[in-house]
Amino acid sequence: MKLLEFTDKFPDEQSCKEAFKAYRLKQGIVCKKCGGTHHYWKKNREEWECKKCQHRTTLKSGTVMQSSKLPYQYWFIAMHLITSTKKSFSAKEIQRQLGHKRYEPIWSMVHKIRSVMGLRDDEYQLKDQIELDEGFFETVSITRDKSEPLKRGRGSQRQTTVLVSVESKDAGKSHNPKKHGKTKQVRYLKMKVVESLKKEEIGDAVKKNVEKGAKITSDKSTSYVDLDQDFEMNSKVIPKKEIPKALPWVHIAISNAKRLLLDVHHRIDDDFLQNYLNEFCYKFNRRYFGDLFDRLLVAAVSYRWNYLGETHG
Ligand SMILES: [Zn+2]
Repeated sequence: MKLLEFTDKFPDEQSCKEAFKAYRLKQGIVCKKCGGTHHYWKKNREEWECKKCQHRTTLKSGTVMQSSKLPYQYWFIAMHLITSTKKSFSAKEIQRQLGHKRYEPIWSMVHKIRSVMGLRDDEYQLKDQIELDEGFFETVSITRDKSEPLKRGRGSQRQTTVLVSVESKDAGKSHNPKKHGKTKQVRYLKMKVVESLKKEEIGDAVKKNVEKGAKITSDKSTSYVDLDQDFEMNSKVIPKKEIPKALPWVHIAISNAKRLLLDVHHRIDDDFLQNYLNEFCYKFNRRYFGDLFDRLLVAAVSYRWNYLGETHG
């Protein structure tokens, strides 16, 4: 969305709140207690009351904003900034733009937004022809009490492994590789942080991300040995100079993601790498979709955020 259009549509807190409510109503309010879908709107309390069991649902509950004390307008501005660029904004920069005193709530808001982007993409599996490989991202590992994710401890450098799968297909005869560079065209991609390259873990991650029966091209790796039960595997030892031809998009995606992350965030905390990748993939997968703000807002009212891989209702 263009900036003027955004400020025109959402000039203040009230307009953001009303839009948020309208988006929720469009999704439908479902009572957490009895599953009822008919509600009264209690204007003075700004919550819905189930017609069947009287259970109340606040405007924010069950959405990304649940338990947030920040104004709706902050969330809208943050979502606008994040979707208005192919690159990204650091939480620090968004804090500066909002002129908010404290960093932590802004940091947390931005990560919740990224987490919702990941949940949205998790609803889709890649299919047909897949390129698969691992990337290694420089991160910082911070020893911390998990209940206090922001406590700054000393960090040690490490490499975090990311499983990258890309849906790509042969570009076809009409495609001129001299002009367009690649012999394959890319559609969607997924990047998932994995703890290890153990075949069980990789197997699970691939099955989650790729539709059964898809044709997977990969380097020959012991991590992939079990995949041929569910997928059509085309894995061979690929000499380094052949990689750009055999797995072009997976490597372009990895280097673009690394460059972007480093450029915007400098130091990546390994606990939150997945969230940064969520944002990267979400935008990449929707690069031809036009306005992403509306889509992100739909996701924001549809999901509760997902903290460090735990799924909340
Ligand atoms: Zn109910």
